[in-house]
Amino acid sequence: MSNKVILPGQTIGIIGGGQLGKMMALSAKAMGYRVAVLDPAEDSPCGQVADITIIDAYDSFEGIKELEAVSDVITYEFENISAEALDWLCSHAYVPQGKELLEITQNRITEKAAISASGSAVAPYAVIQTENDIYDNIEKLGLPAVLKTARGGYDGKGQYVLKDESDIAEAAKLLQNGPCVLEQFISFHKEISVIIFRSPSGEKAVLPVAENVHKDNILHQTIVPARISGKAAEKAIMAAEHLAEKLNLTGTLAVEMFLTDEDEIFINELAPRPHNSGHYSIEACETSQFEQHIRAVCNLPLGSMSLLKPAVMVNILGEHQEPLLARIPALYNWKVHLYGKKEAKFKRKMGHITLLRDHVEEALAEAEHTGIWSCSKERIGG
Ligand code: AMP
Repeated sequence: MSNKVILPGQTIGIIGGGQLGKMMALSAKAMGYRVAVLDPAEDSPCGQVADITIIDAYDSFEGIKELEAVSDVITYEFENISAEALDWLCSHAYVPQGKELLEITQNRITEKAAISASGSAVAPYAVIQTENDIYDNIEKLGLPAVLKTARGGYDGKGQYVLKDESDIAEAAKLLQNGPCVLEQFISFHKEISVIIFRSPSGEKAVLPVAENVHKDNILHQTIVPARISGKAAEKAIMAAEHLAEKLNLTGTLAVEMFLTDEDEIFINELAPRPHNSGHYSIEACETSQFEQHIRAVCNLPLGSMSLLKPAVMVNILGEHQEPLLARIPALYNWKVHLYGKKEAKFKRKMGHITLLRDHVEEALAEAEHTGIWSCSKERIGG
């Protein structure tokens, strides 16, 4: 527990200049903080709104030292910070989130072990080092199964769904990137997430349970309130609270879960930062996930996260940007967020939209009706 408070006027250093950094920075700026960001790109989304931009690799000691020199507190929007850079930062700078949780979540093997050790369920899995390990474990886990690289995968990258044994050789190519985990395929009823916050002084807050729809392993929609039973929602929040407690959370923890027909919960993945499935909170909650993250790392009192209105968030990937822009003049009461990324690559997260309506079904139908997500071609501009 710490009583150190970072006040508006002081500088928050953010490692990573993507959209999460940008939305953290916008909240921090609204509260009167100064923001410094470290990112290798010249014109990163966060760099466009920060007071100070340090352009260097995430694991460059020069860059990390420069960030430390101008910041009163350091946070991150990005998990893959090198162990050396993190060690240096934790001994030279004020990093209230510490490094343990970040290190655990950098690797699916340590992450699953920590979740299991805390008493929560994960999909049955095995650690895979060789192609033979896949053969051996397919017998135990059954098919279909999902092979995932232990490190560095995101948005479905570094994953392979095995449907039968003939897929093994192709899937095994993932081992070129290091050890993997093989998971039993869970035939879930819903994917949900819970984002939880804890300040250094021990105060806690949690966002309402979000229902998530993925397309091609990338988050497509978040629907809140989640269309699940009250009992399942209670169970999901308790699971996230339990993990936050066991993992000694300071800052933000996003917990992605699979919910089965029997309301059984399997924890799929953790992220120690604001999460795509919490973007709806910018407009739909009394305090957004980004403001709450800033409050937590600065040790300010946490805000209420009550839902103000049912909400649907839909991601804008590269192929959706043109159709969205073409329709903007006719979109009433749409909250459009574009992150300021120069190149609209296929499947790249370019922005998101949020609709607040009286019922989530109304918002879903309205989004669907525009055709933005169905008319897009595989090639941008095609
Ligand atoms: P991940 O990168 O682990 O979050 O996986 C991306 C998406 O792939 C998840 O949100 C699910 O839709 C799907 N997925 C991953 N692992 C499994 C699994 N064990 N069983 C069923 N679906 C999965």
